[in-house]
Amino acid sequence: MTSHSTDLHDLSVTALAEQLRTRQVSAVETAQHFLDRAKAQQNLGAYVALNEEATLAQARAADALLATGNAGTLTGVPIAHKDIFVTRDFPTTAGSKILDGYLSPFDATVVTRLAEAGAVTLGKLNCDEFAMGSANENSAVAPVGFDAPAPVRNPWDLSRVPGGSSGGSAVAVAARLAPAVTGTDTGGSIRQPASFCGVTGIKPTYGRASRYGMIAFASSLDQAGPMARSAEDCALLLSAMCGPDLDRDSTSLDRPVENFGATLGNDIAGLRIGVPEEFFGDGLSADVRAAVDAALQEYVKLGAKLVPIHLPRTELSIPVYYILAPAEASSNLSRFDGVKFGHRAKHYTDLVDMYKKTRAEGFGDEVKRRIMIGAYVLSEGYYDAYYLQAQKIRRMIADDFQAAFQHCDVIAGPAAPTVAWELGAKSDPLANYLADIYTLPASLAGLPGMSLPAGFGAGGMPVGLQLIGNYFRESQLLGAAHRFQQATDFHLRRPLAL
Ligand code: GLN
Repeated sequence: MTSHSTDLHDLSVTALAEQLRTRQVSAVETAQHFLDRAKAQQNLGAYVALNEEATLAQARAADALLATGNAGTLTGVPIAHKDIFVTRDFPTTAGSKILDGYLSPFDATVVTRLAEAGAVTLGKLNCDEFAMGSANENSAVAPVGFDAPAPVRNPWDLSRVPGGSSGGSAVAVAARLAPAVTGTDTGGSIRQPASFCGVTGIKPTYGRASRYGMIAFASSLDQAGPMARSAEDCALLLSAMCGPDLDRDSTSLDRPVENFGATLGNDIAGLRIGVPEEFFGDGLSADVRAAVDAALQEYVKLGAKLVPIHLPRTELSIPVYYILAPAEASSNLSRFDGVKFGHRAKHYTDLVDMYKKTRAEGFGDEVKRRIMIGAYVLSEGYYDAYYLQAQKIRRMIADDFQAAFQHCDVIAGPAAPTVAWELGAKSDPLANYLADIYTLPASLAGLPGMSLPAGFGAGGMPVGLQLIGNYFRESQLLGAAHRFQQATDFHLRRPLAL
């Protein structure tokens, strides 16, 4: 029934790279296969830009390299980027009208590094405007095949959200429209959509991946990371993405490039898994709790030990994040003024009027809300009461993690309190903010975190298990996830319609 080419989209990145190296498939054939799938499934709204010519040119170059036998780790593997990374060959919108018509003169460092490892770019993926959101319902951009903005749909149930802000990224992997993708995570935007769509995603330690060319939301929190079906594939991509970029990103860490897959095979017998009581409180829905509990028991079977721990300021991470992230956003987004890039209002009287009209027309409601909150908490008289207090509590949250890591090696819990909700069900911004409770603490502390498929909850929707590691322990996290994926098949399950 299945022809050779329809199998391509079921291959892992690791297997696909091997088939490309051994010339069982060509990079052009592979790229074309995924482009065809992206177009056939455009109802999902995952892609916002394709450029078939550019993709196939990259694939031909990959084939030429493969023919010489000098291939990199990802040569010929097609991937797609969240539309928050600037790219020369594709327009970049950050999900916003204000970047209408913008074409970057350079590629983001993450994009360049993946290209240097041999990856071929399939296109750009939908996301919440400036990565602000938890459901991908804040995108102002029309997906490929649409004339107007349309929701990104969860392939497990088309009436539900994919999560956000990297919603298009999670859907592309879940629906096999790309073998792997990039995402960004400021407060959970890789882990939560990975959880909602049943894929694996990791956000590294803050500073591991360069932010150069990644359109800034909250600079002290933003991190890039990969999403794929397995931890093994994420390790391959993450190894290519990370590394110092000291001249271009002042928060880039001066640590050597690492092979995060080197210890995937390590035994996890005796691994101490910290289980924070605060992640299992009243707000956690029963179906997610059951799936996460079962996943923890699977770890016990694999030889790990569960250690009860406390992260006492978990609840405070919501007000702290929703003060600090908007504060940084209000400053970062001041550059979108109609002068330098993208949209400019057509009719205005003078410069200030041009700024005002451009920003009023170009930004969506959620972005405006955050700019206003950010400007407010940074203003004279409120700075001490809000911004400074939030900074202090941020430090305490990071300290709480260090206290917890005295007793455990990794921390595990749910990635989100519920499975993916229905499109339009959370129109109140606060309801969205509250759903970030389990991802925000690691973001505020700058710790690496990931989500991996751990079971199914209400409506047959995927549930993600979140693993949080101490600084620079990405390999350990990916190893723990890999062991789980060797023993289970949740990450291989697929939405019925596919
Ligand atoms: N949901 C969070 C927000 O809306 C996190 C977004 C992100 O990680 N980019 O800010």
